[in-house]
Amino acid sequence: MFRWLSRDRRAFLRSLVRGSLAGGLAAVPPASAAGRKKRSNSARDVIGELGVRTFLNAAGTYTRLTASKMPPSVLSAIQVASTRYVDLEELHQKAGDRVAELLECEAALVTAGCASALTLATAACAAGTDPARIRKLPDTTGMKNEVVLQKAHRNGYDHAIRNCGVRLVEVETAAEMETAISDRTAMLFFLNHNEHDGSVGHEDFVRIGRRHGVPTLNDAAADVPPVDNLFRFTKMGYDLVAYSGGKGLLGPQSTGLLLGRRKLIEAARLNNNPHSDSVARTNKVNKEEIVGMLVALELFLERDHDAAWREWTRRCRRIGNALAGLPGVTTEVFVPEIANAVPHLRIRWNYESAGLNPEDAAERLRAGEPSVEVRPRYEEGLEVAVWMLDPGEERIVGRMIRGVLGEAIQSSA
Ligand SMILES: *Cc1c(COP(=O)(O)O)cnc(C)c1O
Repeated sequence: MFRWLSRDRRAFLRSLVRGSLAGGLAAVPPASAAGRKKRSNSARDVIGELGVRTFLNAAGTYTRLTASKMPPSVLSAIQVASTRYVDLEELHQKAGDRVAELLECEAALVTAGCASALTLATAACAAGTDPARIRKLPDTTGMKNEVVLQKAHRNGYDHAIRNCGVRLVEVETAAEMETAISDRTAMLFFLNHNEHDGSVGHEDFVRIGRRHGVPTLNDAAADVPPVDNLFRFTKMGYDLVAYSGGKGLLGPQSTGLLLGRRKLIEAARLNNNPHSDSVARTNKVNKEEIVGMLVALELFLERDHDAAWREWTRRCRRIGNALAGLPGVTTEVFVPEIANAVPHLRIRWNYESAGLNPEDAAERLRAGEPSVEVRPRYEEGLEVAVWMLDPGEERIVGRMIRGVLGEAIQSSA
């Protein structure tokens, strides 16, 4: 049952089964015979009980696909935290201080995903720490309520900014940005992923914010690794930087980090749960998630990143080797420039003669046994992310892809 799991994860699950960590559950007397049967000593596989499809994740850190798996020591810290009561605000404060210390910035807050970090950053800039304004959001009457950003930096996640009742003002050049800034401007927004799509780069952007005294926010959600990106943007002068906790950082999927200036982070905290009459009361982060995020961050900072990189490259090569000899199939290892900047494998073949394009191949892999999720990229080929796989799973992924491509190519020959 644990065949596809890493040795670490298997050992952790076995320890659950042995009951050391499951002791709390075992102590509760079952209500009925059926209950007793269900609560036998093994950890329940609820996903299996519900018949929900599981798959090997060769697609990457997609929210829809539940993105990433937490390392065993994150899970065990969560388990311990779940047995304690704390004052949530005190935990937020102390965990935030610890994150800020680790990441060498003024202050930090664990948020309900990067999306919530965007909402909280905006609320902090619009309402600040004023209780009346905090209560009033998303009604921004009487507040600075415009966020200036480059047109090329608009994206689906900016809905999280608009949740605060602000208006997005799109500009295309540095000159337009300077003209657009007024006494209504609450914040300047930058989408790290689109750095090269707009004409205003990091340095000019930060300088413009400084000159006008308007706080700057960089959304770098999916942009670690490299580990340096956790430090670079606050040091560059951004007043606020937002990350996802459950993508490359391998924290709880429902967490994120907001880093930045002490005053702004304090304002973000006041606009957040547990403050009931606030715009982000809907963005609750519980104690388990806060603790899990912190431990995941520590693990990430301690990781041997070069060794991880070599392992991901090896996995790509193994999958490439599994496809060797298939007529017309070519593979290449590549690294996306900004988000998910780790080794991936790109696979191409003659879609027309095989009667199979990357989308069809992805569909067949999804329907396979085991099911495999990949990233079909239309004409650009089939992209395979190896960094969210457990060790060894790349061999199965290679075999499954060979099966799908081999069958199509053979039957068209
Ligand atoms: C994933 C992502 C988000 C949202 O992050 P969550 O942690 O899922 O809330 C925001 N912005 C960008 C650019 C992202 O890639």
